Amino acid sequence: MIKVDLHSHSTVSDGLMTPRELVRHAAAQGVQVLALTDHDDVAGIGEAREAAAQAGLTLIAGTEISVSWRNRTLHILGLRIDPEHPALQQGLARIRESRLVRAQRIAEELAKIGIADSLEGARAQTAEGIISRTHFARFLIANGHAKDMKSVFKRYLVKGKPGYVQHAWASLEEAVAWILAAGGVAVIAHPGRYDLGKTLMGDLLAEFKQLGGAGMEVVSGSHHPDQYGQYALLARQFGLRASRGSDYHGPGHSYMDMGRLPDLPSQCEPVWHDWQEVLARAA
Ligand code: AMP
Ligand code: MN
Ligand code: MN
Ligand code: MN
Repeated sequence: MIKVDLHSHSTVSDGLMTPRELVRHAAAQGVQVLALTDHDDVAGIGEAREAAAQAGLTLIAGTEISVSWRNRTLHILGLRIDPEHPALQQGLARIRESRLVRAQRIAEELAKIGIADSLEGARAQTAEGIISRTHFARFLIANGHAKDMKSVFKRYLVKGKPGYVQHAWASLEEAVAWILAAGGVAVIAHPGRYDLGKTLMGDLLAEFKQLGGAGMEVVSGSHHPDQYGQYALLARQFGLRASRGSDYHGPGHSYMDMGRLPDLPSQCEPVWHDWQEVLARAA
């Protein structure tokens, strides 16, 4: 099967490689089709496109939109979007502004337990892009509050722990509408990470489909291999296509390197089944 990876991050969001470095790394790992899906931003697409043309890789323009749904945070991928589309751009700009407010509140929470200047510390971990919990996590690790990413997200920044703040992201309806307006395909990212029971997961998939959502990640760097079959089945049941993505954030910061993901289970209909630029490569 053609090597497709439809989920990755650059320094525009919380990845460690610039868009150019990321594309080169993907190509070196044998990835043929790569989607750049930075959190709530599309600013890396231009550079990634240029690098992809040089590396002989097919780039899919994407983004990963932060959504609040029934008191939870979900991530919705927009793939094959027009990154210039005004509705999408305005929506993402609104989320990015709200990230700044949240970052201030995170810093206030951390100050309460004696961790000072974390906003400046987190900023120092960002390149030019958004500010996220990942940057706070890197600051906390750099200052000896935790040894690695895994342990920092057990002790800080998550519900019930210091540095957690509740936040209202975009609605599911808005995120899907922006993606569709921008000519893209909406895909639920890493459904296995949301800890939804069967009923809630069913509600989500039905609502997402009804809004015009097209697919869900089945093979994901954030999924345990045991989950692939389960989500392949759910995708079929709800008439959603299947996607495949590493969710790569950079060396030492990801469960899986690019180009290492297994193929989609054979019963899946890939989300790229009618994408000409992918079919051309497979031919
Ligand atoms: P934010 O969108 O600012 O809330 O930050 C979420 C990001 O934090 C995710 O995209 C991941 O990159 C990172 N993250 C969240 N939980 C974990 C975890 N348990 N281990 C590693 N990274 C995590
Ligand atoms: Mn991330
Ligand atoms: Mn995500
Ligand atoms: Mn991601």
